[in-house]
Amino acid sequence: MAYDPENIFAKILRGEIPCDKVYEDDHALAFNDINPQRKVHVLVVPKGEYEDWSSFAASASNAEITGYVRAIGAVAQKVGVDVDGYRLIANQGENGHQEVPHLHVHVVGGERSGPMLKRKD
Ligand code: AMP
Repeated sequence: MAYDPENIFAKILRGEIPCDKVYEDDHALAFNDINPQRKVHVLVVPKGEYEDWSSFAASASNAEITGYVRAIGAVAQKVGVDVDGYRLIANQGENGHQEVPHLHVHVVGGERSGPMLKRKD
C-alpha cells in the first residue's frame, strides 16, 4: 500500500498538528501518546515516510535504521524507564491492530506491563 502523507503522524512531523514532544533528532521524533496505557507511554516515529515496520526494514537506509534504533534507546533513557525496564511495541497492519499508518514504536513503562499477550477467548 502507498504511504498516505495525510496520516496524523505525518501531520505532526510537518508541524501541522501539535504534539507533546519528548525527543527529536535528525532521524526521529518522539512524543507522548494521547491516550497513555501506562505511566510512561511514548511514541517514537522515524522522520522518513514509512508506513510500517516491513516497509522500513525493506527500504530505509542503514543510516535511517541506525538512527531510529538509537533514538528509541535515547528516548527510553530520557524518560527514565531504562533502569526498571520497559516494553517496546510495534503494531503492523490489520492483525497487528495498527491504527496510524506511519511506523511508530510504543515505549511503555513506569510500571509493570504484565504478561506480553492475553488470549482473546
Ligand atoms: P497503533 O495502534 O500502534 O497504530 O497506535 C496508535 C497510537 O497513536 C495510539 O496509542 C493512539 O493513542 C496514538 N495517537 C493517535 N493520535 C495521536 C496524537 N495526535 N498524538 C499522540 N498520540 C496519538
